[in-house]
Amino acid sequence: MPPTPEFLLKSIFGYDRFKPLQREVIQNVLQKRNTLAILPTGGGKSLCCQIPALIFAGLTVVVSPLIALMKDQVEQLHELGVPALFLNSSLSFEEYQNNLQKVRSGQVRLLYVAPETLLTPRIFSLLDSCSLDCLTIDEAHCISEWGHDFRPEYRQLVGVRNRYPKAVCLALTATATPRVRLDIKASLQFEDSNEFLASFNRENLLIEVNPKTDPAAQTLRFLQRFPNQSGIIYCFSRKQVDDLASFLSGKGFSVRPYHAGLSDEDRSKNQELFIRDDVQIIVATIAFGMGINKPNVRFVIHYDLPKSIESYYQEIGRAGRDGLPAHCLLLYNYGDAQKLRYFIDQKVAGEREAAYAHLSALTRYAESDICRRVPLLGYFGEIYTTENCGMCDNCLGGQKDQTDITILAQKFMSCVKRTGERFGAGHVIDVLMGSANQKVLKFGHQELSTYGIGKELTRKQWLQISRQLVQKGLLAQDDVYGVLGLTPKAYTLLKNKEPILGILQEEEAQPAQAQKAGEMEYDRGLFEVLRRQRKELADAARVPPYAIFSDRTLIEMAAFLPVTPERLLAINGVGQVKLAHYGTVFMGLILEYCQKHQIATGGTKATLKAVRPTARQKIGKARHEVVGEAFNAGQSLTELAASYQVQTGTILDHLAQYAQEGNSLRAGDDFLELLGLPVERQMAALTAFSELGTEKLRPVFDRLGGTVTYDELKILRLHYLSHLP
Ligand code: ADP
Ligand code: ZN
Repeated sequence: MPPTPEFLLKSIFGYDRFKPLQREVIQNVLQKRNTLAILPTGGGKSLCCQIPALIFAGLTVVVSPLIALMKDQVEQLHELGVPALFLNSSLSFEEYQNNLQKVRSGQVRLLYVAPETLLTPRIFSLLDSCSLDCLTIDEAHCISEWGHDFRPEYRQLVGVRNRYPKAVCLALTATATPRVRLDIKASLQFEDSNEFLASFNRENLLIEVNPKTDPAAQTLRFLQRFPNQSGIIYCFSRKQVDDLASFLSGKGFSVRPYHAGLSDEDRSKNQELFIRDDVQIIVATIAFGMGINKPNVRFVIHYDLPKSIESYYQEIGRAGRDGLPAHCLLLYNYGDAQKLRYFIDQKVAGEREAAYAHLSALTRYAESDICRRVPLLGYFGEIYTTENCGMCDNCLGGQKDQTDITILAQKFMSCVKRTGERFGAGHVIDVLMGSANQKVLKFGHQELSTYGIGKELTRKQWLQISRQLVQKGLLAQDDVYGVLGLTPKAYTLLKNKEPILGILQEEEAQPAQAQKAGEMEYDRGLFEVLRRQRKELADAARVPPYAIFSDRTLIEMAAFLPVTPERLLAINGVGQVKLAHYGTVFMGLILEYCQKHQIATGGTKATLKAVRPTARQKIGKARHEVVGEAFNAGQSLTELAASYQVQTGTILDHLAQYAQEGNSLRAGDDFLELLGLPVERQMAALTAFSELGTEKLRPVFDRLGGTVTYDELKILRLHYLSHLP
């Protein structure tokens, strides 16, 4: 009897559970149904073809567009004890012949090939002589001209399908718009539509957008939070890449550049250093990343605006493939968008419109104040309904509350008017702030009634006001010189005395801190010891460290301290072969470390569950904490709403977050006063909270059959939390 997928998952790969849709895809392939699987990066696509390959009697061929990817997969399979090989142009004649021979003799389960290699007579005659059970097409979007990475050779793969009709075809990709999906199926002549589409939400990515003010300093501050960790910084131009890389290297960071201006040799050397953990940071143009399977990329910084939402998603997607938390920061300012607009202007007519559309989708995304996951996933047609993702700046309470900026806007617009609608924001601000610089004096603007009436804000804040007025269509800005003028809409608004709402940022936004759900307490000293050992073994075997063990595996070891083979096998990512190869060494290190530090060894998986998430390190106080403390000090909801110029609902959200972080709330009847709900229903809701917990409202809402609205539930939840012992 062949082994089951579950058995192989545990014994070979060392994992306890399938990731979403893996099992379904594998079952479908085993039943020899042609399958298209669209799973996000890190979704575990490799296993979808590797597990069937270990069950089928015949050979599995995997078509892959990049030599680096093939090499990576084969190295990892070797570490798992799985016989796999690749054939491509990087091999010498002898190696190539040798590999052919091994395949012919039936020793190999998985054969990785480049498409152009597969389409040669030599490979056809090889495949004719074996029994081919599965043809896997990795990065299947390359088949479509509508995708972002079209490869003409992929179009001919259908010929291979027809030649080997007994082989089931599995197409894998992480990106496929509906159009590309259709294209893949049509091009491969899939007769049935066995399509598996996973959610594109990457829960472990903390997504943050910050106003770009002093990018070099912002980057430095950010990097200080990730000592010894791997990350990628994307820049717009080669020059920017070189400048930033040498700046960071001057500050002592382990960093290399990567862009199309470097020689092939330098590029692959820098990439290899990064993959092997010899270099921590890569500063790159978008050319970097396609062939990168590195699972422990802990951060991605966009120093400049990416090209489109889709490329942004791809680029941040390179972080956190291992499922551990990773941080993605986009530095955004209006000037960058203008710069891109300038480049787009140079394009030919047909391309220009699409590029403008991409850019405006991106600026809308960056400026939005709702959960980042909503527009991001929305772009791929997915509707994200979770109330608070807990993993983006907007949900984490760095909420940019709209305030009333009417007076400020009036001051700014009248200064634009008084200076004759002939200047850019810089000069208007000089006048508002009462500067006595040459230009002001030359035009006699110190005589204007608006001179010096804007000293309450900083320059940066005025610039922000100016940008918002442009965005709201109240000011028009000339593209070339940036000259500002009032629009008809502005006159109407001023005449009707309508209030203007906007965002007034405090000087420096707080960095977002994830709740880091699921992060476990582990011994960092031991982790370092294990990591050094891993690096040594990897270098000796000339493979990347993650081919030996993933970071997650080492973290679990440093948390559970396994010193027997059974305990070690219970760790994620430890299967039989890895146990046999590395078990003794790692158990030895753990034992030694524990004895030296007098730590009891041998936790079980059950204790893992009991380990609480680590305390968050914090810098300064977040808005919800300030609100929480003010509430406890006796301020009412209405007072708080008024003093922050926000809706009561926003205050309730802040308080809920404050309470859920373990702070107690003053018990009062403030909350219930907001409700006109019958007492029985209130009681039913409170009972439901006590049974189902307060983490998510959805289960409670469902339990009550929708008789209590979400807004009411939010209030009741606070009441419940504030009356806990
Ligand atoms: P993709 O190719 O879809 O980006 P990979 O196949 O490289 O993703 O898998 C990403 C990471 O997740 C790898 O380190 C892999 O070993 C791991 N992985 C795959 N399946 C599982 C699983 N069922 N449980 C835990 N980890 C898994
Ligand atoms: Zn969110």
